[in-house]
Amino acid sequence: MSVQVVAAKMAEVELKDIPSKELAPVSPLTPKAEDKGLVKNEPNVAVAAPSSSAVAVAAETVVVRGEPSLSPTPSPNPAAKMPQASAMKRTDPQQNGGETFIGRDGAVAEAPRMKKIQFADQKQEFNKRPSKIGRRSLSRSISQSSTDSYSSAASYTDSSDDETSPRDKQQKNSKGSSDFCIKNIKQADFGRREIEIAEQEMPALMALRKRAQGEKPLAGAKVVGCTHITAQTAVLMETLSALGAQCRWAACNIYSTQNEVAAALAEGGFSVFAWKGESEDDFWWCIDRCVNVEGWQPNMILDDGGDLTHWIYKKYPNMFKKIKGIVEESVTGVHRLYQLSKAGKLCVPAMNVNDSVTKQKFDNLYCCRESILDGLKRTTDVMFGGKQVVVCGYGEVGKGCCAALKAMGSIVYVTEIDPICALQACMDGFRLVKLSEVIRQVDIVITCTGNKNVVVREYLDRMKNGCIVCNMGHSNTEIDVASLRTPELTWERVRSQVDHVIWPDGKRIVLLAEGRLLNLSCSTVPTFVLSITATTQALALIELYNAPEGRYKQDVYLLPKKMDEYVASLHLPTFDAHLTELTEEQAKYLGLNKNGPFKPNYYRY
Ligand code: NAD
Repeated sequence: MSVQVVAAKMAEVELKDIPSKELAPVSPLTPKAEDKGLVKNEPNVAVAAPSSSAVAVAAETVVVRGEPSLSPTPSPNPAAKMPQASAMKRTDPQQNGGETFIGRDGAVAEAPRMKKIQFADQKQEFNKRPSKIGRRSLSRSISQSSTDSYSSAASYTDSSDDETSPRDKQQKNSKGSSDFCIKNIKQADFGRREIEIAEQEMPALMALRKRAQGEKPLAGAKVVGCTHITAQTAVLMETLSALGAQCRWAACNIYSTQNEVAAALAEGGFSVFAWKGESEDDFWWCIDRCVNVEGWQPNMILDDGGDLTHWIYKKYPNMFKKIKGIVEESVTGVHRLYQLSKAGKLCVPAMNVNDSVTKQKFDNLYCCRESILDGLKRTTDVMFGGKQVVVCGYGEVGKGCCAALKAMGSIVYVTEIDPICALQACMDGFRLVKLSEVIRQVDIVITCTGNKNVVVREYLDRMKNGCIVCNMGHSNTEIDVASLRTPELTWERVRSQVDHVIWPDGKRIVLLAEGRLLNLSCSTVPTFVLSITATTQALALIELYNAPEGRYKQDVYLLPKKMDEYVASLHLPTFDAHLTELTEEQAKYLGLNKNGPFKPNYYRY
């Protein structure tokens, strides 16, 4: 979805009496003298000044070097513990370099402000008897990411035999609570096993839980969440609960819920509203059930895609009086937040987890490196050795795909528009080509650009018989699938998520997941990688929840590097990795604190 479309949709939330930003936006914290060297050179990344217990954790740990405190008590002088507070400036990549918010070093905080929000359909009415087909009764469609096909392949329970909508069922958990809406509470035992398996690969969250036994940095936090409801999310939710939070949760995607996991969560006392195969009406109904409840108001938002945030803006703007912050994971959701911030309409601080190093460098690269082969194999049983593959885009995702395919003995070509990434591809041993030069000969085409119309009909026409075409990049924009829906072409569904598109001369291409994300649609993603992102989310919540008043303004922040380093350090013991410690002399020589941060914010890794 383009930024313009997102902006247009967000514009439905019409905000009134918004004061113009008179103050030069500022970073909430003056950097320490020794940090200034790092801050000065920072080109364009906004980093939050950590302050609270999450910060205390980060500041005191690099885990292998001592137990951190999870105490929520803010440090009287947080700066003393902080690696740095840096200039607040970020370039929004979807805005052709336009800056979406700016701040400066200093400690001026604006008083929290509320805005009136007007919307047409003030009174929301949900369909009484939802059908399986989404009903477009609502003023705003759910986001692209909410409908991307998504497979929870590890799911044991296929509920297709039970056609009754969960909204029409009366269910109670063993403690008598009915404050949830899921497919079938009887699946809870299966779900519990799934969660236990995920726990094995989520060591950092488990470590946070252990440390939280005496300290509850999220005591009093009321977190409303909207993410994929999978075993990995369950580990995150149960960790937040162990840290003291109350949680109410809905799914950010209508297909991705693992029903048995939702059942286990409901049995464990969580208010979960989600099932696999929700209609669009169900989707909003579930979100509404999370926030529209008597005697409970959220004070933190954890969102993936921005739909929950949008809903609260639209329906319950007064809730923002109590909300301390938003943590957002997705590209789409983060863009929406920057749009709001740019328009001066963001009324609480928000953390952009998507652009954390611990997400970008691990999720995009390692997740795709592992799941590209899985997705291709499950759908096509293709052998990779000797196959000619073209990968469009050599960013993080492209690098991961290329590395995996090269390791399997494929002959890999790369296309790029950026000479730097192009040079990287060349020096990594890949042939840089234009798509038109290889399109006739390749066996597999993979898009990873984040762009649109990278593979257009002209290329599809020229592909050889049997060519496999798939997308690992942005939703379903990269391959011009619409151009294949013409009368002269025949579509044949040969397997779930696999279509043969047949030309009049008999040539056929193999289109996977109808051009949507291959790995999300056709394989599972590694839990360990999700653990890194989930830990970052947990720390972002702790940080925002405990930040002293005024530390964060109504802007979008990145987590400080110190916390990224902390998240990474929590995952090292899994590998029995032994980190080298700086000597005093070396630390002085490099101008670093012995406990980090070890790199300036502009460092690229
Ligand atoms: P990136 O910006 O690092 O890489 C994209 C690359 O594509 C850039 O180097 C860019 O120069 C290049 N490019 C752009 N247009 C091109 C074109 N027409 N032809 C050839 N190259 C072109 O981004 P990334 O982190 O690699 O992510 C890429 C996309 O994948 C994003 O949309 C991201 O949201 C998505 N993503 C998918 C997954 C997944 O699990 N499948 C995970 C993370 C991110």
